[in-house]
Amino acid sequence: MQKTFASLGLRAEILQGIKDLYYKQPTEIQAETIPLILSGKDVIGQAQTGTGKTAAFVLPILQRLDQQKRDIQALILTPTRELSIQIEAEIEKLGKHLDVKVLSLHGGTDIERQINKLERSVQIVVGTPGRVLDHLNRGTLHFGRISTLVLDEADKMLEMGFLEDVDRIIASTPQHRQILLFSATMPDQVKQLAHRYMDQPPHVKIEQKQKTVATIEQEYYVVNQTEKMDALLDLIEQSKPYLAIIFANTQQRVQVLTARLQEQGYDAEALYGDLSQNKREQLMERFRQIKFQYLVATDIAARGLDVEGVTHVFNYDIPSDVESYIHRVGRTGRAGQRGTAISLVSPRQKSIMARFAKGTKTEIEEKLLIPGRHMDQGRKQRAAEREAHFAQLREQKKREETTAKRKKLAPLEQALKKNKKVKPGYKKKLAREVEQFQKQYDQKKKREALKAARKSAGSRSGQTGR
Ligand code: AMP
Repeated sequence: MQKTFASLGLRAEILQGIKDLYYKQPTEIQAETIPLILSGKDVIGQAQTGTGKTAAFVLPILQRLDQQKRDIQALILTPTRELSIQIEAEIEKLGKHLDVKVLSLHGGTDIERQINKLERSVQIVVGTPGRVLDHLNRGTLHFGRISTLVLDEADKMLEMGFLEDVDRIIASTPQHRQILLFSATMPDQVKQLAHRYMDQPPHVKIEQKQKTVATIEQEYYVVNQTEKMDALLDLIEQSKPYLAIIFANTQQRVQVLTARLQEQGYDAEALYGDLSQNKREQLMERFRQIKFQYLVATDIAARGLDVEGVTHVFNYDIPSDVESYIHRVGRTGRAGQRGTAISLVSPRQKSIMARFAKGTKTEIEEKLLIPGRHMDQGRKQRAAEREAHFAQLREQKKREETTAKRKKLAPLEQALKKNKKVKPGYKKKLAREVEQFQKQYDQKKKREALKAARKSAGSRSGQTGR
């Protein structure tokens, strides 16, 4: 039977934090490791990023946190500053209702500020080995009272040359602390580290997340921002999804995109953070029952969303980090079915796709759009520009003609004005004068046109002769 978070015996405040994040049920690594960790054992968790490994160690730490104690109770070592910040954020979210005090100690930020924070109460420290050791050496940090030590992404940490630092940090912790080691792979160096410090740890191994991703075809298209909407419509028409989730990066973009899709006759609905829990659940239920075909969502709203039959995921906007990418892409290809993940990227975002491909250890193929609306869009725009230009020329010509006509008739008007009473025969004379004037004017115009034609012919032959 599938485990629930409640069945893991977690505190109500933690269950509320989990609910706030819309995690429906524990992931495999969570379901298997949390009970072991709660029983006090040292544990090795072999799992990739994207499996929910962070919450697998964060939840038990929160469960056993003594809120009355102001000391550091848990230390989490992690290879990179990004990961450290990310874990800090996840602890803050999951521990929101416990008012937990967590601090990330990573390089690249002011050490004095970190020292100030350490002087206040901190219950959980997350950090990179280098910076943590720096604090230990300065005496601004003590781990004498920690009960849990986590070595996160141990393989990466050792690969980056942190072994010595890790050894020294472990030496500064009490003898009877619990050690949790998480690693995607188990090279000898990691095994030796585990053997040296851990007490008969059970080894929980979760099959690689990439297996799910392997059933998902991943591709991306390079499109300009102005053509994105039409490109998306083309891709929808060409790929004919059964059910699709379309991700955009903000609530506003989700709303606009949904409206545009609806205008085009697609049954699309928007899912975003500000919707009430009730509305979200109703919407999800209707999506599961295939009452509509296109779910447009932000990341946060689609957390843990598990719907069978989602054949396509579209990244209308691409996410900024690989975890979100994996998470989004993983909304399709569920339960071993095939799926397609399509991302729309600007020319400048191509490098991000390369990063995602590396992060997911899969190939993300760049594809070219088959001509369709997005092409029409360009054509339409150019035609509109041309039309505007011609309209301007026509207007200018009309203005010139009016001026010329006025000029031509000016003498006649003047003459008529001056000679209100005209002698007999004068009108005829005047008409002859006007006719002559007209002739002169026409000849002059012709000469000018001829001159202009010769000049432009001359410059053209000059150009070709060069
Ligand atoms: P991690 O492997 O810790 O990097 O987690 C991958 C992603 O899954 C993160 O964005 C987590 O917020 C999310 N996550 C963790 N646990 C769960 C869960 N039980 N249900 C849904 N999403 C989860």
